[in-house]
Amino acid sequence: MNFKESASMTTNTKPAEVPVFRQLIGGEWVEAEGGRTFDNINPYSGEIFAKMAASSADDVQRAIDAAEQAFPEWAAMGARARQALFLKAAAILERRTEEIVPLMAQENGSAPAYARFQIQWATGLLKQAAGYPYLPGGEIVQSDTPGVFAMAVRKPLGVVAGISPWNGAIALGFRTIVAPLACGNTVVLKPSELAPVCAGILMGEILHEAGFPPGVVNVVTHAPQDIGPVSDRLFESPAVRAYNFTGSSATGAKLAARAGAKLKRIALELGGYNPMLVLHDADLDYSVDTAIFGAFLHQGQICMNTRKILVHRSLYADFLERFAARARSLQAGDPMDPNTKLGPLISDEAVTKVQLGIEQAVARGAQVVAGGTFRGRCFDPTVLTDVPANTPIYCEEVFGPVVLVEPFDDEQQAVKAANGTAYGLSSSIMTRDAWRGITLGGQLQAGMVNVNGPTMGGEPQIPFGGVKDSGWARFGRWAIEMFTDLNLVTVSQNKRQYPL
Ligand code: NAD
Repeated sequence: MNFKESASMTTNTKPAEVPVFRQLIGGEWVEAEGGRTFDNINPYSGEIFAKMAASSADDVQRAIDAAEQAFPEWAAMGARARQALFLKAAAILERRTEEIVPLMAQENGSAPAYARFQIQWATGLLKQAAGYPYLPGGEIVQSDTPGVFAMAVRKPLGVVAGISPWNGAIALGFRTIVAPLACGNTVVLKPSELAPVCAGILMGEILHEAGFPPGVVNVVTHAPQDIGPVSDRLFESPAVRAYNFTGSSATGAKLAARAGAKLKRIALELGGYNPMLVLHDADLDYSVDTAIFGAFLHQGQICMNTRKILVHRSLYADFLERFAARARSLQAGDPMDPNTKLGPLISDEAVTKVQLGIEQAVARGAQVVAGGTFRGRCFDPTVLTDVPANTPIYCEEVFGPVVLVEPFDDEQQAVKAANGTAYGLSSSIMTRDAWRGITLGGQLQAGMVNVNGPTMGGEPQIPFGGVKDSGWARFGRWAIEMFTDLNLVTVSQNKRQYPL
């Protein structure tokens, strides 16, 4: 274990001991009320990776208060000063890469390539956000009244609560707070209880070291059983003006209802069931490579993983044979080993859920062409065919290394099958005819369409986001609209004439 740069550990932790992490409130690293902690488990070994501060509702309130107090000064800070902080944070994250890769393995089960991809992605996000303070802050609006000068001005909202998932911990922990901060809001970040270090504490450490003023960034961690009071405080507090949520569609729907009841906005990035269409003229080898990457990166625990591959019948048998052979050659193992490509699933519950999804499909006639087996939490890449449409796994996200392969005869049948799910996050179309891909892509109900690219991907500047049950948020510069208000300011140069 390597925590050499962690600022948030309690000072009495010796290298051999399980580290105990504090949380960031008002610029101070503090224990939870009463010194309460919870265990953070290594998904590969099952051992305790770290002990975390277990926040109470009052701890959350302190974080909200600190964010509220820090808001006016942060909102008024000049663009150059704010930009410098984001650039410094990007440099710190880059500097800490070699230390963070093993943390991602131990807390998250992330294999090295996926951890490095996320660090590089988050560094890019911070660098790009450094430019946001210089983007136009509004526009001039033409007035019908001579002598009236009207401006539409973008203003930050106030305190934004960020709720991050465990699966893309580093990338999504940062994505949950970077755009709100760059727009001049202050934040309370509540990471997943399954990745409180990599999806929360690390963001706090890096932004704190970069010099973000006290209270601008607050991070509270909580035990799984305390989500009720923690969530109540975040959603009941009038000081919290908006939410940035990334997680499952089921949780997102509940939280959208809570935010809506208080007439507050919530950005939602939710689950996905992402189809890949392999058209009759696709490059078969490249399609197999793309499908392997799309389906199995991070053991199928990414919102954008390919869940269903629809292959034109003329290529189906060849595709299936090559794809299944490649899937069988991939084995999950210890993510601390630099040669490991796939790590474990996050928890025993995740293994059970994947296993159940496969069993239900097989009971209704599905064939397991590869995988279906597991050792501990390491689940083998699994390929299913002949999955009946009335099986849950046919259209629901199981969040593991399982992919369905299905033939189609005509493209409209493939489009219908691709759209036959409540989700609409990402999609992929493999064809040598790019225009055909673009045209068919227009018929897919997905926030993101990739012609000759994987469903899995994304760069910090794209309008990342989904439709239908996959949510409605958009990142990249489009996030500015979510995390600012548009205010009208008018100035009358002449005395106005009134009818009264
Ligand atoms: P989850 O919904 O279980 O948890 C997400 C976050 O919500 C966690 O921080 C959790 O503690 C919190 N949460 C849960 N119940 C809550 C409540 N009542 N009040 C407040 N917060 C609450 O999801 P997860 O298992 O962490 O993440 C996996 C899911 O996220 C998958 O469905 C995946 O597709 C989705 N996801 C989507 C994207 C995207 O960008 N669209 C990215 C990553 C993950």
